[in-house]
Amino acid sequence: MTDLSSSSYGQRPSRFASITSAQWKSWHWQQQHRLRRPEDFDGVLELTADEREAFAACSDRFRVAVTPHYAALMAPTDPECPIRRQAIPGLAEQQVHSFEHSDPLAEEAHMPVPGLTHRYPDRALLYLSHNCPVYCRHCTRKRKVSNPTTAASTRQIERAIDYIADTPKIRDVIISGGDPLTLSDARLEEILGRLRDIAHLDVIRLGTRNPVTLPQRITEALADILSEYAPIYINTHFNHPSELVPGATAALQRLVRAGCVLGNQMVLLRGINDDPQTVLSLNRRLLRHGCRPYYMLQCDMAQGITHFRTPLKTGLDIMDHLRGRIGGVGVPDFVIDLPGGGGKVELVPDYIVDRRPTEYGETIQFRNFHGDHFEFVDLDIDDQ
Ligand SMILES: *Cc1c(COP(=O)(O)O)cnc(C)c1O
Ligand code: SF4
Repeated sequence: MTDLSSSSYGQRPSRFASITSAQWKSWHWQQQHRLRRPEDFDGVLELTADEREAFAACSDRFRVAVTPHYAALMAPTDPECPIRRQAIPGLAEQQVHSFEHSDPLAEEAHMPVPGLTHRYPDRALLYLSHNCPVYCRHCTRKRKVSNPTTAASTRQIERAIDYIADTPKIRDVIISGGDPLTLSDARLEEILGRLRDIAHLDVIRLGTRNPVTLPQRITEALADILSEYAPIYINTHFNHPSELVPGATAALQRLVRAGCVLGNQMVLLRGINDDPQTVLSLNRRLLRHGCRPYYMLQCDMAQGITHFRTPLKTGLDIMDHLRGRIGGVGVPDFVIDLPGGGGKVELVPDYIVDRRPTEYGETIQFRNFHGDHFEFVDLDIDDQ
């Protein structure tokens, strides 16, 4: 039996010195003891003057919450720590740029019923909760996540499920939020049961960052529920290899044993994971634990997250580096979710160096991951 608390409990901050391993292991305890105010970080981190000021500035917009588990992964004296930067506010969040959108993906505009976005014909995104164990500073749904007044009511969720049941072209439902694992086991079971009863659904997906921020939530009881409705496709959100501590990997293993199919949606973040070595190392570790890198997402044009954005070239260079150094199962798609509700498009490095017409069609010169060149004759079938 793997001990879900083992990793981060051993490195818990001095603030939690007297906490027992049983308390640390309880997700209820972790939720109730989330760090929210600057004073909560005494004995956890040395906050910088800028960070303190940022707490005050963001309190009415996008709140701060950090689980003790996630706080234990942070470097106490390094403000550039990649874990810390994802969860502790910075003053850059207050900067406003004219190109930013409050709802960059036009998720609200594509809602046939409240709480459900139906953009692609076959897929629907269902929002169950606006709460998350940790509020990621780079969240693209800052406009509503962390705001308790906009959470979906039971009635609203019922109506959204009715819409899915009445729309046979939907084959794939993505349960999202916020974080849907904020709901109780009983409520999740009820919703999964209702969705499984819809005969036209091929795929039920669940998007959650709990394996990263609150791995204690992945209890045996939850795994039992998920296995009852297997296969549930779970997309999680690891951004850095140092998030894959033993507690988190044990959670992944438990989900795999429950018949879940695991994928990772990494967000490319400046100064956090925007270099090829970090992504390679993250993806290698994910594969070890049965989680396939699914997307590497370009950071959206949402308000207050522009300081996290990288040029597209950074992502393309990372993709170029991955190919040839890790198997195809470890190479995600690099995607931009187009502003205005255009949906996701994939960006691929350009491997073509030259193309010349020949008597058969075209001779194309490619480069491989080493930079060596190879010729391929593309046939013009119409001329045969
Ligand atoms: C991302 C997204 C999906 C799922 O897209 P996949 O590429 O299938 O993972 C579905 N609906 C909306 C609105 C989305 O933004
Ligand atoms: S877990 Fe997801 S929805 Fe919640 S704050 Fe982080 S990015 Fe946003």
